[in-house]
Amino acid sequence: SPILLWFRRDLRLSDHAALSAACQTGRPVIPVFILDPVAQSLGAAAKFRLGLGLGHFAQTLQGKDSRLILRRGKALTKLQEVIAQTGARAVWWTRLYDPETIRRDSDVKTVLKGQGIDARSFGGHLMFEPWNVETRTGGYYKVYTPMWNAVKARDVDTPLAPPGRIPTPQDWPRSDRLADWALDRAMNRGAAVLRNHARVGEEAALDRLDGFMGDGVDCYVGRRNLPSEDGTSGLSEHLSLGELSPNRCWYAALRAADEGKSGAETFRKELVWREYAYHLMHHTPHILTDNWKPGWDRFPWCTDPEDGRALAWKQGRTGIAFVDAAMREMYVTGRMHNRGRMIAASYLTKHLMCHWKIGMDWFADCLTDWDSASNAMGWQWSAGSGPDATPYFRVFNPVTQLDKFDPDRRYVRRWIAEGQETPPASALDYFSAIPRNWKMKPDAPYPEPVVTASDGRQAALSAYEHRDF
Ligand code: FAD
Repeated sequence: SPILLWFRRDLRLSDHAALSAACQTGRPVIPVFILDPVAQSLGAAAKFRLGLGLGHFAQTLQGKDSRLILRRGKALTKLQEVIAQTGARAVWWTRLYDPETIRRDSDVKTVLKGQGIDARSFGGHLMFEPWNVETRTGGYYKVYTPMWNAVKARDVDTPLAPPGRIPTPQDWPRSDRLADWALDRAMNRGAAVLRNHARVGEEAALDRLDGFMGDGVDCYVGRRNLPSEDGTSGLSEHLSLGELSPNRCWYAALRAADEGKSGAETFRKELVWREYAYHLMHHTPHILTDNWKPGWDRFPWCTDPEDGRALAWKQGRTGIAFVDAAMREMYVTGRMHNRGRMIAASYLTKHLMCHWKIGMDWFADCLTDWDSASNAMGWQWSAGSGPDATPYFRVFNPVTQLDKFDPDRRYVRRWIAEGQETPPASALDYFSAIPRNWKMKPDAPYPEPVVTASDGRQAALSAYEHRDF
């Protein structure tokens, strides 16, 4: 009887434990993707990117004489429907870790098992299961560095080769048409622009990893903080949708280290930041929704996402060049350089005193590499409310940061058209992507700061000093 391979955020063939195990049984394998309420609730750019990923993955499966069966509705109901139509006796999938998905998957597992179906989850989205990494006293890691020390020398599963053949069923069940799902609908005018920047699929991911390990990694330490350079791996959107496994990245970095390449360990450290984010989400899921340190509940954040300061920030017109360049980079490309993320997040939560959730939600809507764990951790880290967070009184100065990390203003010129006689296409793309009712024009004067670097710093520090927690 067939095995249903329920794909979610693991759109790859290689290093896929569930798929490899299913193919090894010799039983027919039916790949399925379900657009359920969890997938429906994705932000606009993440949903758009999911659509591109699914289209590409369906083609990859076709190249293997297989198919991706698409269904829309409640996951359990749709799985039961396909089970009834195909006589499948097993449903296998790759584990995910956010609370909503865990609730859904546990429910699916319990009900299907009760009906005699072999419902099973496999690892692969992470290198280290959150429950397998413990402090000496048996707790979880609240701080990153000890976690890095605990895992840096651990064995990680060797990446699996893609299956040679995916056994097919005699009859395929029917599938929805991907185009009918219109996953790009929420993108509005931005879709056409964003499409030019998406790098989609497993092959692209593996190429990017090879290229990065070929020469990028050697300069990683020196270049990774410069937002005008292509100095990081650029793998986050692939890791987010599982087009690439973290194990494969880890192995590639170990090989690069053996070859004497210098940034390999720094790169492995970054992969462990991702693991740490999942570790925190598993042990303290409230990191997604509430101040991780509850004392921050009494901090006087502005919580209105439509507040003028929040809107200026979202629309990349705060008058602070580093922040605006970063916000526009995200709107155009679906990505933002890590330095930009830190500066934009710090400015919103400290200078503008807006709640980190406003920023987290906006990023969730605009990023193609959106990842619930990394996004929440990044925001709480920036705001000061999270574990191992930057102390509140350490306020990034977005002006001196620009001098340091974009001294020749290449990043700013790439993304901000105002004030340039002949702005580059990248800066103009922003105006093709944004909603018309933002009423922004490339030839308008560049705005004065909503809050200057020094005023914002003073206001933030004084609110912090007078806090009652
Ligand atoms: P590289 O420098 O090449 O790093 C390699 C990989 O390590 C990344 O692909 C990523 O998987 C992981 N990584 C690197 N830095 C971090 C980090 N600080 N936290 C967790 N994992 C990390 N990353 C996301 O993938 N999705 C998000 O939604 C996200 N939101 C963020 C929000 C804020 C406010 C901040 C400060 C950071 C956020 N990050 C997020 C982390 C980081 O900015 C991105 O992972 C990184 O910029 C991706 O680029 P890269 O793949 O070239 O990274």
